[in-house]
Amino acid sequence: DRKPKPSDDDGAPAGAAIIVDVLAPLALDMVWSYLAPPELALAAGDIVRIPFGSREVIGVVWAVRSPGAIASDRKLKTVSGKYDAPPLPDGLRTLLDWIARYTLAPRGQVLRLALRHPEKLPPEAPRVAVAATGKLPARLTPARRRVLAALAGHREMSRKALAEAAEVSLTVINGLIDDGCLETHVLLDAPPLAPDPDFAPATLSDGQTAAAASLRAAVADRQFGVTLIEGVTGSGKTEVYFEAIAEALRQGWQALVMMPEIALTAQFLDRFAARFGVRPAEWHSGVSPRQRERIHAGVASGDIQVVAGARSALFLPFSKLGLLIVDEEHETAYKQEDGVHYHARDMAVVRGRIESCHVALASATPSIESRVNAMRGRYGHLRLPERYGQRAMPRLSAIDLRKQPPPKGRWLSEPLIEAARETLARDEQALFYLNRRGYAPLTLCRSCGHRFQCPNCSASLVEHRFRRALICHHCGHTERRPDACPACGEVDALVPAGPGVERLAEEVAGLFPGVPAITLSSDLAGGSERMRKELDAVAAGEFRIIIGTQLVAKGHNFPRLTLVGVVDADVGLATGDPRGAERTFQMLQQVTGRAGRGDAPGRAILQTHQPDHPVMMALLSGQSEQFYAEEIGAREAAGLAPFGRLAAVIVAGPDRHAAETHAQALARAAHAMPDVSGDIIVLGPAEAPLAIVRGMHRFRLLVKCARHTDLQGFLRAVLAAAPNPAARMRVTVDVDPQSF
Ligand code: ADP
Ligand code: ZN
Repeated sequence: DRKPKPSDDDGAPAGAAIIVDVLAPLALDMVWSYLAPPELALAAGDIVRIPFGSREVIGVVWAVRSPGAIASDRKLKTVSGKYDAPPLPDGLRTLLDWIARYTLAPRGQVLRLALRHPEKLPPEAPRVAVAATGKLPARLTPARRRVLAALAGHREMSRKALAEAAEVSLTVINGLIDDGCLETHVLLDAPPLAPDPDFAPATLSDGQTAAAASLRAAVADRQFGVTLIEGVTGSGKTEVYFEAIAEALRQGWQALVMMPEIALTAQFLDRFAARFGVRPAEWHSGVSPRQRERIHAGVASGDIQVVAGARSALFLPFSKLGLLIVDEEHETAYKQEDGVHYHARDMAVVRGRIESCHVALASATPSIESRVNAMRGRYGHLRLPERYGQRAMPRLSAIDLRKQPPPKGRWLSEPLIEAARETLARDEQALFYLNRRGYAPLTLCRSCGHRFQCPNCSASLVEHRFRRALICHHCGHTERRPDACPACGEVDALVPAGPGVERLAEEVAGLFPGVPAITLSSDLAGGSERMRKELDAVAAGEFRIIIGTQLVAKGHNFPRLTLVGVVDADVGLATGDPRGAERTFQMLQQVTGRAGRGDAPGRAILQTHQPDHPVMMALLSGQSEQFYAEEIGAREAAGLAPFGRLAAVIVAGPDRHAAETHAQALARAAHAMPDVSGDIIVLGPAEAPLAIVRGMHRFRLLVKCARHTDLQGFLRAVLAAAPNPAARMRVTVDVDPQSF
């Protein structure tokens, strides 16, 4: 009898079962040992069901132990079963272990990034096709005659399509099936068509050709390596890395293209299809569960060769990954800021190393980290300094708002309005850029000075007229905008302070009546499909004026857009974040780079109160090298990444005093630690920049050290030495925080 023993029987037959270590997607670091019946033939990576306490949970076999260890492990429970789902390949498991070690997140929590629950989906209703059997019905009604006529010439048709074509109800068709005149079978999904590397190659410019050749060679080498593709907006970086993808396809390898935003993915899919004949698989939070399951299977089997997606695509079970591309590599959206705090660009590089394949990072404004890696020769560096097709970079100028302020309660200065008029007169498009969602960042009472604050966060509520609400941008708290001030009761005394895109749109409508305009902001766009339609409509020229937040700043190609007006170029500079200058520079470079990508030359106008700020000077003079050199110098002097390492430890809890006390205990534990390398600096605790979020009071420690110091080892020791946090308190570690 070779049936496995039930799990509640601890007399497992020695030599028959093996022991496996299983990782469950719970917020725990350890693996658990189980007995596995030999007929399950479990291997590392297999997805299994295990008894866990009083329930049954899903898990992944992390290791298979040698059978010798069995006799002494009689109390082990037994694996309940194995899922018929693609196993997690070695490379992916290694990546997950690596991320857990690096981010200090429990391994089980990291596993959640990669694990899908195969049992969660309801069974799919089979799609049924019908075909004629050749038998003629004994009773031939007109309806039945129409069905047979509609089916003539088709090998098979879906039942529904046939009913529609014949204009009959399904009952008629079912009657014919019952009589044996039609037969049914399940329509099978055809395997996805393979992208064709030679479908429609572009004719590359000389610069592109050289860059593509170098990248192709790096891919074909099949060794780990990283190349930074630094090309100005419109230089054709995509066309260049398409050649790298083509090379991977010719070699029979898979490629992953990562994008920071869904909105960018949509446009990419079409460009990819034009180049390779078919669309790549698309992976992000908007993809349906059924489709996710198919992609998982296809990526694991190798049927799917190219995936384009958000950061989570990094955790797909690729079986022969041969190329990773991170587009817009400088984007902060690559950093996940909750749960496991990982940076998808950096982890893409790690996966490339694990899979021994090439990684390409593309950007017009590379991050300081990647730039330094390229400077020091750790990364290859390909540059595309010119736009494709003799197109000029947009002409940049600044308007000094101190000298030419718009009238009170308005945000567009006269010269910018004039420039927009000229643009519209030439039948071209103008974009007004303001990175503030909603109507006004602050609402206050003119009578008593009351400000609307979020009850859960230390932040102002932002007025959204379109949605008729006051909304917190940190926790989503929403309340109706009252007519009277809740503090003093004065009616009609509430006034908006400062601009948001909705308010800007109002001003634009007043200035340019009758000109078709569209406001694009992530909270207005209804889902990715709608956003895609709107972006297509903009690209097709249906709108003459675009008012937008950072949603429109990057990646998009609007051929008729020739004027970009940055309404408030200073927005990102006053945040106190040491990366503020770099961020602002990147953002302004990206958004101004939307202008003049078509045949007509473009211009961009920055409205600023600080035309002499190094960021503005660098943009206006086009001397970005100088700006970056200074930023890099400042980073080096401060010992910040990539020259030094930094981690934030955040203690958050509902009680302010308890949170602060625990943060102090952590700081004491840190100061008491022997610092082997002698270079670890512990700062704080201090209130986190956002002191209260979702009702949780937040205190922060910063730990700084040199590049080669074992920061994680130090943090782990500190966390182990500190007292356990109280029940509702959370301690989060953020290695390489993006803002500090
Ligand atoms: P980037 O990503 O560097 O901003 P893109 O790859 O989006 O640039 O290219 C900008 C525009 O120029 C796109 O419309 C693209 O189709 C076009 N383009 C770039 N290179 C070529 C080429 N070799 N042949 C034809 N069109 C090109
Ligand atoms: Zn809030």
